[in-house]
Amino acid sequence: MHSLDMHSLAVSPPAPEAACRLPAAIDRLAGSLTNRLIRATRWRVIEVPSLQPIVSFTFDDVPDSALHAGAAILEAHGARGTFYISGGLEGRVEPDRTLIDAAGCRELAARGHEIGCHTFGHQDVRHVDRARFVADLADNARYLDAVDPRPGRRNFAYPYNSGSFGKRRILTRSYRTCRAGGEAINRGPTDPTFLEAVEIRQPETHVAGLTRWIDALVAKPGWLIFFTHDIAPAPTPYGCTPEAFERLVAHAVERGCCVLSVDAALDSMGFREGGR
Ligand SMILES: [Zn+2]
Repeated sequence: MHSLDMHSLAVSPPAPEAACRLPAAIDRLAGSLTNRLIRATRWRVIEVPSLQPIVSFTFDDVPDSALHAGAAILEAHGARGTFYISGGLEGRVEPDRTLIDAAGCRELAARGHEIGCHTFGHQDVRHVDRARFVADLADNARYLDAVDPRPGRRNFAYPYNSGSFGKRRILTRSYRTCRAGGEAINRGPTDPTFLEAVEIRQPETHVAGLTRWIDALVAKPGWLIFFTHDIAPAPTPYGCTPEAFERLVAHAVERGCCVLSVDAALDSMGFREGGR
């Protein structure tokens, strides 16, 4: 998820350590540097094959329009997506979006979509101490298991795409992969604890131009992961319209890409449970 999310500012209760936190601009810079260092020091490595272009469409938080519009568009193209859920946001009504509830999550799973973890409290993992982080992940595991019981590890997406050196061991134990941002395609040696992804966000002209990422993937295959939030006629800055999303999905299919959920993409690339 983006680093300047107005929603999450409202969502996350202040952490106990907030009083000694750096000013916001410096904290964002610290987060950006942390992400760069994490990318420079891979924790695990998988080899993404270059045989065929694979595209995954993923949703964070997740607004209910991602179910009603986003999932339906994927299904119309015979594809499925990955929905990274924060249980603590369940049913939350905000001025410009409403978050999915448990029934919506069950419906997504029943329709063949993947339910992933986005933490329970949706806080920047850098600002959560280890004990609280473990408890938070356990809370979300209980929530997700209630709506989508399944064996094996889920996939994870960092709130605000913000990584943490100290949490990598915990995340590796609990999740098959962890997705960040980065505006890049995963090719060749790739750290499954910090997958790269490209954001679908406003303005609509920007979304229309994202087909260039699909063209680049077809020219040099790997694994392109998109992420977004709401799919609505009047989207938030962090989503897009159904028409724009439809064009993007259709372009991936027409260019011959395999459009798969994150979990199905890992399976198709031959990685066993555990992402290796
Ligand atoms: Zn998020």
